[in-house]
Amino acid sequence: MTEPIRFHSTRDGATSISFSQALLQGLAPDGGLYVPTSWPSIDIQALSRETCLPGIANRLIGPFVSGDPLAPQLPDITAEAFNFPAPLASLEEGLGVLELFHGPTAAFKDFGARFLAANFARLRQPGSHPITILVATSGDTGGAVAAAFHNRPGINVGVLFPKGLVSPTQERQLTCWGGNVKSFAVRGTFDDCQRLVKQAFVDPELRQQTQLSSANSINLGRLLPQAVYYAASSLEVWKKHGEPASYIIPSGNLGNAAACIWARKVGLPIRDIVLAHNANQTVTDFLRTGEWRPRPSIATLASAMDVGNPSNMERLRSLFADLAQLRTAVSAETVDDAAIRDRIRKGFERYGQIWCPHTATAAEVYERIIAGKRPGRWIIVSTAHPAKFSEIVEPLIGRKIPVPEALAKLFARPTEFTEIEPELASLRPALSVGRA
Ligand SMILES: *Cc1c(COP(=O)(O)O)cnc(C)c1O
Repeated sequence: MTEPIRFHSTRDGATSISFSQALLQGLAPDGGLYVPTSWPSIDIQALSRETCLPGIANRLIGPFVSGDPLAPQLPDITAEAFNFPAPLASLEEGLGVLELFHGPTAAFKDFGARFLAANFARLRQPGSHPITILVATSGDTGGAVAAAFHNRPGINVGVLFPKGLVSPTQERQLTCWGGNVKSFAVRGTFDDCQRLVKQAFVDPELRQQTQLSSANSINLGRLLPQAVYYAASSLEVWKKHGEPASYIIPSGNLGNAAACIWARKVGLPIRDIVLAHNANQTVTDFLRTGEWRPRPSIATLASAMDVGNPSNMERLRSLFADLAQLRTAVSAETVDDAAIRDRIRKGFERYGQIWCPHTATAAEVYERIIAGKRPGRWIIVSTAHPAKFSEIVEPLIGRKIPVPEALAKLFARPTEFTEIEPELASLRPALSVGRA
């Protein structure tokens, strides 16, 4: 058995902690993000013989957890987290769509949130202080995290979303939980929400009251499980065609993209990784100019990707020595709202596909890739079910979108939230009021 893999902050290579410590901490005390200190060599042959997501997850995540107190429970954790499929639908020769929206809140974030919750439920000691999970959301994260942690004993959840900047459907998903889940409509942007969460973490007063943790894509426990569907789908392509798969990933905070890069890093047959961004083009500009210029986020149709200062860029940069290397590892494109609308219409006309605005962003990037005659077996990553964005999509395709059963159930619940200023002084008391 090789040495267990440990995790260090992107800002401090010297101190390392275990898998479960990294999960509980979320963000490192120095403000950095946890990354593995070393990379396992995965037996890809054995991995390719696995036929279900939990089986793939055990082999892929296993080496990262080995030696940790959670390791013996990994099979139970993955069975609980990966209990819905991630099918790869074929659209035409050389093009597939990876459908990541078959979970309880109909977005890919269900995978990471459910894995994290399954771990947290096993990490908490009975009778110990409650854990408070704080999550900033530009739309889908909050719903997925709330769903995954709802009614888990000893765990409270605080969901922060930018007031008026998420779709009405999403807002319902963020505010329909009650019980151990509190929702906060922040008078500001997603970046304000994210900043508030970061401030809460280093706030001595809050830290005294409760054990704070994060369920944002900065949490290692969200990221690792997302590598599983890249493993499954790339191996499916490899087995069928003997070629690696290339992915176009609708990107905001870059958690999903980082997971794909990690999957490639441990040896999965993945070739190109293309980041599809909306008009928030911090990453596209950075790859072009080499200058990292975070900026306020802009509201777009693909609202779950409205991120002006993507946290996980720090993880990406930590993997590569310099800009030149990063440029060979990923490329990025920016798509404006007009092109997103157009692509939703055309996707329906040409393939009968109904795409959410995020998926359409990636589909538009695919068109540019094809126009540029870039070869490969391409996979468009479909990050959410279009019914979550019916206000946008239905007028474009001229028909009603059938609502998946899981979503319909959520929509039937009553909603409740507290409105707060984008300041810690406003969040602090709201978090503690009525705390169990
Ligand atoms: C969160 C989200 C994204 C962006 O994912 P990141 O990991 O933040 O880059 C894309 N599409 C949808 C539907 C999302 O919910």
